[in-house]
Amino acid sequence: MAGYLPLRKIILLIVIIVIVIGLSILSGRIWGGKSEQSQRPGELIIEKGMTVGRFGQANALSNKVLKEIFDLKTKADLEKPLSEYGTVDQVTSMVKKRLALAAEHESKNWIKIPAKFLLWFVFLSMVFILAKKRRVTSGARKGLLFAAVLIFGVIMGSDPSPMGTVKDAIHLYGTAHAVFPPRMIALTVFLAIVFFANKYICAWGCQAGTLQDLIFRINQTDGQKAVMGRQIKIPFVVTNSIRFIFFCVFTFVAFSLGTDIVEPVDPFKIYNPAHLGLTGGIFIGALLLASLFTYRPWCHLFCPFGLVGWLVEKISLVKISVNYETCIACQRCAAACPSTVMGAILKRHKKTIPDCFACYTCREVCPTGSIQFSTRKRTLPPPGHFDKKKKDGGQP
Ligand code: SF4
Ligand code: SF4
Repeated sequence: MAGYLPLRKIILLIVIIVIVIGLSILSGRIWGGKSEQSQRPGELIIEKGMTVGRFGQANALSNKVLKEIFDLKTKADLEKPLSEYGTVDQVTSMVKKRLALAAEHESKNWIKIPAKFLLWFVFLSMVFILAKKRRVTSGARKGLLFAAVLIFGVIMGSDPSPMGTVKDAIHLYGTAHAVFPPRMIALTVFLAIVFFANKYICAWGCQAGTLQDLIFRINQTDGQKAVMGRQIKIPFVVTNSIRFIFFCVFTFVAFSLGTDIVEPVDPFKIYNPAHLGLTGGIFIGALLLASLFTYRPWCHLFCPFGLVGWLVEKISLVKISVNYETCIACQRCAAACPSTVMGAILKRHKKTIPDCFACYTCREVCPTGSIQFSTRKRTLPPPGHFDKKKKDGGQP
């Protein structure tokens, strides 16, 4: 029977992907089929001596739009010279900013967004309570991750997302020097969750993160052994350097060329397949395949929120810590952790602690219950703790 395990896992993976894509197409249609991505205004035609009305005609802007942008009171105001509103550069900048904000507003589904935040609140609170009761076991984790994929991805779609708040905020500011207030509120809420409880939103609420996590767990037995191939923990210095460089390149390109380099390969678009191009499809396919063998590749290598959230994680109130008084130094937690973070928390031999996704695997495998997810401060292991315990019979 064990020989059939990889085949069963492959079938399960295919079924999940088919369910995600199939139901996402359906739910996208129910929500109205919007791309949920605003179109940035292109180059404007503007000449010295132009009137407001002439400017509107040259750029195909309706009188209603002109009224909002230039605060027109009567029709006669269409004859006002543009120079009344500033220099050519100032008018261009003002119009682009207003058009970009209007496009942002237009692209959003204002019923879905508050509903999704409410669901996040309920779901994350439920996971938090389950975790407190130590009910997040291997099987329950997969069920919760699948539920998160279905609720926050398939049903509620690709937008909003933690990543989108950072990525789109940078891109909007880079292209139109505009700040979209609802997005800043969303970003503040996401970062407040990180501040409160580590990467909880990434762990249990992000639609792309939970899908990658689920696929990684599908390729594992309940004892965290890989079923197909090997699962690799890429050193954090490598993943974080790539993520940092990617963030800088993304920001530079957004400000200098006005291009969003994430857009064509955005993994959140798996929940909006009608707007997923060939490049995106190939990239997401490769990403999901990679998720079988390494933990959350998008989060660790590319995600802008992953990077920003990792910085805020440093001051999280509730986080994973070890009680060295009961720890027997068996290091099962570090071995079971899907990334290198538990090794760094446990031994504290490195100053930099990688991203912790509050998945509770370490807590689940600890034979002495020495791992907590609480406000307790992380302490250093007593000197010689691991050497002594090794001699006493702890596993290296
Ligand atoms: S780091 Fe991962 S889980 Fe967090 S926002 Fe990015 S994609 Fe989602
Ligand atoms: S196993 Fe523990 S340390 Fe590792 S990511 Fe999960 S909660 Fe964090």
